[in-house]
Amino acid sequence: MKLLRDIVSVRRWRQGCKKRVVLVPTMGALHRGHTELMRLARKKAGPGGKVAASVFVNPTQFGPSEDFQAYPRPLEADLAACRQAGVDAVFVPEPAAMYTNDRSVSVCEDSLSKVLCGRSRAGHFNGVCTVVAKLFNILQPTHAVFGEKDWQQLAIIRRMVQDLDFPVEIVACPTIRETDGLALSSRNSYLSPAERAAAPKIQAALRSASGLASRAAIENHAARLIKKIPGAKIDYISAVDAATLAPLKNRKTPGRLCAAIHLGRARLIDNIPLPREK
Ligand code: AMP
Repeated sequence: MKLLRDIVSVRRWRQGCKKRVVLVPTMGALHRGHTELMRLARKKAGPGGKVAASVFVNPTQFGPSEDFQAYPRPLEADLAACRQAGVDAVFVPEPAAMYTNDRSVSVCEDSLSKVLCGRSRAGHFNGVCTVVAKLFNILQPTHAVFGEKDWQQLAIIRRMVQDLDFPVEIVACPTIRETDGLALSSRNSYLSPAERAAAPKIQAALRSASGLASRAAIENHAARLIKKIPGAKIDYISAVDAATLAPLKNRKTPGRLCAAIHLGRARLIDNIPLPREK
């Protein structure tokens, strides 16, 4: 496995790739959620194709009061996980290799990023779009894999690729969960043992609400259950159109039930499908 530290080395590596190149962008602190993305990437790459991962805690997607400094950075373990998952090259840039002080151009998404997490995380998705656009330009992947765990991010990246004509196929990987239902996340390490024990109730609440007929009924039922979790504070629970993220009008189009819940020091996000009714 090649460790690439700067853009020149990436471009040189890319020139040697003759078939598919499948990119898995990450912020590191890798867990089974990430390595499943890498395995899917391996499959998608096919014989002769290459899998590239990036490990970069992107400063521009963190707000001033968020956990950029505290975000875990276990690089050696991350490299071992990439190697084991069959990654061919890992790009691990320093922030200075990605951003100059006099930069003045970024990618702004103006619609899907205004709702859900965008309400409390101003600028977050512009940071995400900008870094993903840069990674696409630097690595020039044919495909890129993103997790359904971050549904809003996936929808926004799809829209960016469509609107800016990136020649990259976006591949979605289903959310990987612990056996008790909690979605794997690097931020689960912020939970106390009691919070960790209660956290799966978030997903259970979403599931319990997902069969109801109307948006209001779904959101209210999930909120009632989540309010019973000691220490849980609801940021949002929203039933939305799966593609546009607009409030779900009816069950005739595919929907998604998305939630962000503060539990102790952690802000947990999760989402489940609201299948179209026949
Ligand atoms: P992050 O390192 O948190 O930026 O995540 C990198 C990629 O891994 C994103 O596409 C996430 O959606 C994806 N991811 C993180 N956790 C999970 C999970 N539990 N299941 C599926 N994908 C995940």
